[in-house]
Amino acid sequence: THDIHIIGGGLAGSEAAWQLAQAGYKVRLSEMRGSGTMTPAHQSDRLAELVCSNSFRSDDAERNAVGLLHQEMRDLGSLIFTEADRHKVPAGSALAVDRDGFADSVTAALEAHPNIMVVRERVDSLPDKGPTIVATGPLTAPGLAESIGTATGKDSLAFFDAIAPIVHRDSIDLETAWFQSRWNKGLGKDYINCPMTKEQYVVFHQALLDGEKTEFREWEDVPYFEGCMPIEVMAERGVDTLRFGPMKGVGLDQPSTGRWPYAVVQLRQDNASGTLWNMVGFQTKLKYAAQVELFRTIPGLEQAEFARLGGLHRNTFIKSPELLDSTLRLKSRPNIRFAGQITGCEGYVESSAIGMLAGRFAVAELRGTTLPLPPRETALGALLAHITGDAEVETYQPMNVNFGLFPPIEGRTKKADRKLMYTGRARAAFSDWLPA
Ligand code: FAD
Repeated sequence: THDIHIIGGGLAGSEAAWQLAQAGYKVRLSEMRGSGTMTPAHQSDRLAELVCSNSFRSDDAERNAVGLLHQEMRDLGSLIFTEADRHKVPAGSALAVDRDGFADSVTAALEAHPNIMVVRERVDSLPDKGPTIVATGPLTAPGLAESIGTATGKDSLAFFDAIAPIVHRDSIDLETAWFQSRWNKGLGKDYINCPMTKEQYVVFHQALLDGEKTEFREWEDVPYFEGCMPIEVMAERGVDTLRFGPMKGVGLDQPSTGRWPYAVVQLRQDNASGTLWNMVGFQTKLKYAAQVELFRTIPGLEQAEFARLGGLHRNTFIKSPELLDSTLRLKSRPNIRFAGQITGCEGYVESSAIGMLAGRFAVAELRGTTLPLPPRETALGALLAHITGDAEVETYQPMNVNFGLFPPIEGRTKKADRKLMYTGRARAAFSDWLPA
């Protein structure tokens, strides 16, 4: 017997389960991985597995909206952030983790909790009754997706993300490539840089355009969202788009020339031991053979061995602003809450955050009370408001947390000061709300 059923043991489901269990409620947590069904992106049976980058992005709570969200979650006793902090690897001002250590610890914490029963099973339809949280993510299994489609009376939208390749460190030529963080931020060894001259860059750009891509006819017209856009799609936007984007050379001093390179490919540490490095911003739908051939033309990566090549995956989410109430319940079936990326938030941090809120709203409901909504001025409140009503329904797309979702700061201020004003206001609003 359980008080609540959570479907999906990813980032959102894990956080929601933890919040409920810590509040004393019995949770059944259903996860299909480990029962014979995988998603196209996960690689293991671990709960809260990170499917692509190992970064939770900026950890700066004063100047960055996602860093602020980190802090709010830590203040609320987040399991995801407790374990992320324990499994941190160097990444400048970002919070990146050893992905295996992180997911192992989240799994162990949930499996050991006396109030949580982790059940390895695939759920194929929405439960008719009983408090439920659906946190099955962007790769929700088709049966359940169909059931959600029927319950919502709307077609779930589907599009694709791309995974960046991961390289074995000992196959990188450090005579050509070098360790340095842009503008020497962080510990200095956080990134490996592979420099390109103008000539090399132009050839590389053309090869990206010409490379053989994986094509899925029925998935054409995919609206990629910024931040996880395939490298070749960026290349199509113009010859300089990459050079001013993920391949920008500014702030990096190439040892052999003492100058900034024309362009650069950066790699970031991907595991605690530093044996694996991911190619930053290099999500791609190039075919595997084309990836190996092309990426080995990058100076420093001539002998690269790939632990994982890039790939493309489906993303499913519902039209939350229309379908969900302010506490994430499906208006037409209020026993069901949604959490995580399936609500149309975007990113590990945001998915975990919405999992945390779904869990806390459910706790309040089980207690017969209500949890006041987190204030709009906080990161949690701004993100929640976007999902549950503020966003345009017709053009609704997955969204990272950003200051654009917060109530604007009135009056003229310098850009740098504005960020501090957003976060200062948020911290004050958060502490007023917290005791509630
Ligand atoms: P998930 O973490 O995917 O968890 C959902 C869980 O539900 C999974 O464990 C799945 O196995 C399970 N499940 C699905 N259907 C069923 C079912 N019917 N029954 C039982 N269990 C089920 N975000 C970033 O911040 N950085 C990135 O680099 C990044 N890369 C991404 C790459 C890809 C390919 C994709 C698809 C997404 C990426 N995202 C990234 C976006 C998003 O942050 C992650 O997908 C995140 O894991 C979402 O968290 P979640 O808890 O909503 O879903």
